[in-house]
Amino acid sequence: MPRENSSLWFLEKRAEDTPMVMKTKTLILGSGPAGYTAAIYAARANLSPLLLKGLQPGGQLTITTDVENYPGFPEGIQGPEMMERFENQAARFGTEILPDTATEVDLSKRPFVVKTNLGNEFHCETLIISTGASANYLGLENEQKLQGRGVSACATCDGFFFKDKDVCIVGGGDSACEEALYLTHHASKVHMLVRRDQFRASKIMQKRVFDNPKIEVQWNTSVVDVLDPAEGKVTALKLRNNKTGEEFLQKTDGLFLAIGHTPNTELFKGVLECDDKGYLKTKPNRTATSIEGVFACGDVQDPFYRQAITAAGTGCMAAIEVEKFLE
Ligand code: NDP
Repeated sequence: MPRENSSLWFLEKRAEDTPMVMKTKTLILGSGPAGYTAAIYAARANLSPLLLKGLQPGGQLTITTDVENYPGFPEGIQGPEMMERFENQAARFGTEILPDTATEVDLSKRPFVVKTNLGNEFHCETLIISTGASANYLGLENEQKLQGRGVSACATCDGFFFKDKDVCIVGGGDSACEEALYLTHHASKVHMLVRRDQFRASKIMQKRVFDNPKIEVQWNTSVVDVLDPAEGKVTALKLRNNKTGEEFLQKTDGLFLAIGHTPNTELFKGVLECDDKGYLKTKPNRTATSIEGVFACGDVQDPFYRQAITAAGTGCMAAIEVEKFLE
């Protein structure tokens, strides 16, 4: 809920009629662990940050269930509840949190200008980008319906819930191999569904997979459908052999996707330096981007770790770098 006597409340009321132009020292884009941690640190440094929640408020953790690997929660915590706590903590120290999404940026000079889908315009001295990344999915209808009920794009987050179960993982890259190996610590059997007749993964990862008796690689195999939503959890997959075209059912308890992530950097293409996969480039061991005063933290600049705790860590770094920059 917007807080009365704050510019947030004022802005929301005005946004219905007249878009607002607002100035801030620090604008944060995105509301995952990186964005909120940056907000907590920036607010405690008296920078009065303003945070736009973006398209997926709370980020990727809101689509997971139990989070058991974030230190400080020995009993685990539900992803959405955890993000609510992050938000409350950021608000407690005075972060203005707006349900708005950046749609246009002008980073050619300071103050930077960010326009939003509510028609608002923010002028900021510094910008922290924490727009995250989105796991790629196959695009099947039931796959979305069964997210968190057998379908997952994060084996490290959800593998534990498949103790002694049969699971399938789609993908043939290093992530798929790594996650398949991780899943063998819990599941009784792991089927790797690879769409071609070879892996994309490095040889060393391939070897580890081939050497693991719990993993069975099914080449030339694509997922056509996920069954059975009526039961409210995954019970089987409809698969296709890409060589013969034959379709068949395969019983399983879980479907993991490891077919890559896409960083949410559309807005910054051609503006900030990105790597060949679209991740924002930052200075070594820093969150500073190719434009002075613009910082990036969390998954939007991290193709490797992609954990809540590492995102939070880089969020902290970004806020500290902003503070130093403004000094
Ligand atoms: P990659 O892009 O390397 O691999 C994606 C895999 O998913 C490929 O096998 C691809 O198949 C498959 N795929 C993509 N789309 C579909 C689809 N629609 N249906 C079925 N399969 C699909 O992504 P990763 O996340 O694995 O790795 C990203 C980067 O991170 C890489 O550079 C990797 O080396 C690195 N990494 C390194 C690790 C390590 O060193 N331990 C661990 C994890 C990642 P196809 O090959 O046919 O295109």
